[in-house]
Amino acid sequence: MIDSHCHIAGPEFVDDLDAVIERARQAHLAHALVILAADDQAELEQASTVSARWDAVRFSIGVHPHAAGKFAADPAAAAGAVDAQIAAQPLTRGLGEIGLDYHYDYAPRDIQQQVFREQIRLAKRRALPIIIHTREADEDTFRILDEEDASAIGGVFHCFTGDRAMARRALEIGFHISLAGIVTFPKALELKEVARMVPADRLLIETDSPFLAPVPFRGKRNEPAHVVRVAETVAELRGGDPGEIAAAVQRNFEKLFKP
Ligand SMILES: [Zn+2]
Ligand SMILES: [Zn+2]
Repeated sequence: MIDSHCHIAGPEFVDDLDAVIERARQAHLAHALVILAADDQAELEQASTVSARWDAVRFSIGVHPHAAGKFAADPAAAAGAVDAQIAAQPLTRGLGEIGLDYHYDYAPRDIQQQVFREQIRLAKRRALPIIIHTREADEDTFRILDEEDASAIGGVFHCFTGDRAMARRALEIGFHISLAGIVTFPKALELKEVARMVPADRLLIETDSPFLAPVPFRGKRNEPAHVVRVAETVAELRGGDPGEIAAAVQRNFEKLFKP
């Protein structure tokens, strides 16, 4: 079992980190990719505590589109900040999350795009796969991935919430698709179709903890152990057993991130 995307170096986990890790161990998680924000000093400092207590942890570092506005005066500085943190963290195996979020629009769209581009370029220099966050920004996301030749490094569309057509586009350019707890929600019918169509060798699963707890934990803080619920739901939708899905996503994770 793996959790390909979680934020357990964040403030929500400081008080009971050991208990969260213990439950993840009991859920047989072999790997967890912990996302770090390059502009969040507290999270970066907590990262070493997390990896010291749980050897399954690897990191991905980036500037989230929500934070892109901090680099409005100099978008290249976002990539510079990420580069410095990657150099300081030997367990880094990915670059992200990076991308575009036009739902919240916390940063001006042109700045989000420039910060995204600069980080794709850095990922290519660093030979790291990218973890993409995209919301209500499909066209610009695919255009930038194409213009920057992101297929050369690949990566994953994390917490995928698009439709089958969008999934096909992501697969066509060589990317993986990661499903989160939303796939367990009864009304997520199109996402359940996506879960059925993604080839077994391109599928990943995640919690995005502390966000998006799956059924029956919906509305509570999420944690890596709950990825088991995502695996069970995906297995049910695909007509396989959870063990097979877990084995497939673990193989995909190991191939992509070389943990
Ligand atoms: Zn995200
Ligand atoms: Zn995230």
